[in-house]
Amino acid sequence: MMEQSKKRYRVLILSGAGLSAESGLKTFRDHDGLWENHNVMEVCSVDGFRRDPKLVANFYDKRREELKNAEPNSAHLELAKLKREFPDDIAIVTQNVDDLLERAGCDEVIHLHGTLVDLRCESCGEIFRVGYESQNSKECPKCHRDYIRHNVVMFGESAPKYQILDEINRYAEYFIVIGSSGQVLPIGLMASFHEHSIINNLYPENGVDDYFKKAIHKPATEAIKDISMEIREFLLTT
Ligand SMILES: [Zn+2]
Repeated sequence: MMEQSKKRYRVLILSGAGLSAESGLKTFRDHDGLWENHNVMEVCSVDGFRRDPKLVANFYDKRREELKNAEPNSAHLELAKLKREFPDDIAIVTQNVDDLLERAGCDEVIHLHGTLVDLRCESCGEIFRVGYESQNSKECPKCHRDYIRHNVVMFGESAPKYQILDEINRYAEYFIVIGSSGQVLPIGLMASFHEHSIINNLYPENGVDDYFKKAIHKPATEAIKDISMEIREFLLTT
């Protein structure tokens, strides 16, 4: 299989928290910097992890439990359908660490910030599946050490997949953002390279919407109908 980054996709669909919000998954942006009563920097930063790794491990264990009980919504399902229909034309990239796109049947999802369903060995770097289980007492299947951590990128760490995103964005002709406010990624700047672009968020995002050709302010499950129609039309007629 060709490496993801070497493919040239015509359409780049980047999703964020807003895609999974209707499946009941919350993020820290919903609660003024608190995520399930934790300060974000306590559980999502390198410093917080160094201070209290046990607390952070418990936190991600709970997120896995929550994910186990969540279901993909109609926006996940429609994206999966589009990707199956146009596997070589559409790149599906997400900031989300859930596996709802995969569970909706979507192939080749690029997770910029890692995923909850994998763990990582700090000794040898092996990434392996944990599913929805606790990371407690897990050991590395490769080196058998137990220096294990969540496979989610924290504040203060680099995100190697950003390079893949840059490459895809460079060649894409159509840039679509679903449920991301642009607080983490420079989506406005990214959109400025493209003749075709759509942003979908529940509310207008200050200063970011202007960079896009079209803004849709609706829940993702409603906006996806328009978005899907536009993508199909674009790919089938140009
Ligand atoms: Zn290992």
